Amino acid sequence: MNDPSFADAHRRLMEEIEAEARETAHWTGRVRYAERVMMAMASVPRHEFVADWQWPVAYANCPLAIGHGQTISQPYIVALMTDLLDLDAGSRVLEIGTGCGYQAAVLASVAGRVYSVEVIPELADTARRRLAHLGYDNVQVRVGDGYTGWSEQAPFDGIIVTAAPPEIPGALADQLVIGGRLVIPVGTSGQTQFLYRCVREPDGTLTNEQKLPVAFVPMVPGLRPS
Ligand code: SAH
Repeated sequence: MNDPSFADAHRRLMEEIEAEARETAHWTGRVRYAERVMMAMASVPRHEFVADWQWPVAYANCPLAIGHGQTISQPYIVALMTDLLDLDAGSRVLEIGTGCGYQAAVLASVAGRVYSVEVIPELADTARRRLAHLGYDNVQVRVGDGYTGWSEQAPFDGIIVTAAPPEIPGALADQLVIGGRLVIPVGTSGQTQFLYRCVREPDGTLTNEQKLPVAFVPMVPGLRPS
């Protein structure tokens, strides 16, 4: 699945992620990321998630356009957010914002089951087909409004949100197990957004740790039933 012609660029990217993890440790509290996270980052073929004209930069440590005004996140941010979820091979994880499916593939390599919700039907369809084609058979993608989560599949050990809402959606907190982690960028676009790692406490409340400033596409108000 990993094309040898991308091997050098992919190896350089892994070194850049390791360096950026060290440089941002004062924000994130993590000098390096778990081995299973780094192995997932090293195994997922990022070029398969972008158009072929973007292949020369598929392993650059930066976001890329994926159409519909959306982006595939910077690989360092994908690694950081995955690490902050503290997943293991048995974890059930919910992703809001499937986009091209790259983050979902990384999660699928680290966790047991991945549920991903995307508001744009064309992106959800393409991601679903791509993930199946690449053999990520523990991921389910559905079209829907991420603000409501995926109650039928709850509770989750981790929830990751890859678009920024103005504040933490309450429904997502309710779909976490006690001790479950929510990793989410919060803020209005055009203003500073921060990445948060939240943990669900036994009384149902969340404790929030602010991590680092980030720039995500806005989480749009979702589909409303007509
Ligand atoms: N995780 C993606 C990044 C996608 S960018 C990847 O690896 O490629 C953020 C995505 O969130 C976009 O695809 C956007 O359409 C989606 N999104 C925005 N608001 C949403 C909402 N309310 N519910 C579900 N998805 C949403």
